[in-house]
Amino acid sequence: MPEIKWIDADAYLFDIDGTLLNAFGGAHYNAFHSALKKSFNLDCKIDGVQMHGNTDIGILRAVMTREGLTNGELEAKLDETLEHMCDQVELNRAQLHATVCPAIPELVRELHAQGKLLGVATGNLERIGWIKIEAGNLREYFSFGAFSDKHEKREDIFRNGVAEAKRRLGESATVCVIGDTPADITAAQAAGIPVIAVATGIYKLEQLAEHNPDVCVAACSELLHLVSAVKR
Ligand SMILES: [Mg+2]
Repeated sequence: MPEIKWIDADAYLFDIDGTLLNAFGGAHYNAFHSALKKSFNLDCKIDGVQMHGNTDIGILRAVMTREGLTNGELEAKLDETLEHMCDQVELNRAQLHATVCPAIPELVRELHAQGKLLGVATGNLERIGWIKIEAGNLREYFSFGAFSDKHEKREDIFRNGVAEAKRRLGESATVCVIGDTPADITAAQAAGIPVIAVATGIYKLEQLAEHNPDVCVAACSELLHLVSAVKR
């Protein structure tokens, strides 16, 4: 994708963890453990499961499979398990702190000021995702979100985000995803959406570049320069 194309997009879907911000304090992590205990009487930790680029339901499923439970057991209690996770993060939101990634406040403010539609597209559950966005003081810039509550696969989350952007802007609207993991790149490619990869999560620029994103940058400050230049 030539640079001008992503700059000209009508809407941007931002991943949360590692892209907009990095959350810490354990509220989300501990919510998995509380839910696994309450719904399935599991005392295990989620450590060892692929978390970066995964979805909350995907993480739950991987842990339960590892612990010998069946998909049917998860499905039977899925709704109450997800609700309990969200309740726990809400309850412990004071412990959830966010470090916003470099140049993100300036980038989303600039895109928003230019009239772009901004959404989040994340493997987080909706209530948890918005709590993180609020912790990063970014809520005012985002009009909508696509989350994992109803979509376990990342590519379906992205498709849902694009559909919502087109519902708001019209069928001809162009949408671009911004994410920090190989999973974001491959999911966007599977969904046919242009993707910008940014190395502010755990993956290095070279690792992301191997998956052939349309644009690959070390940090969003590189995008900010280009976006700001358009205005002048
Ligand atoms: Mg991420």
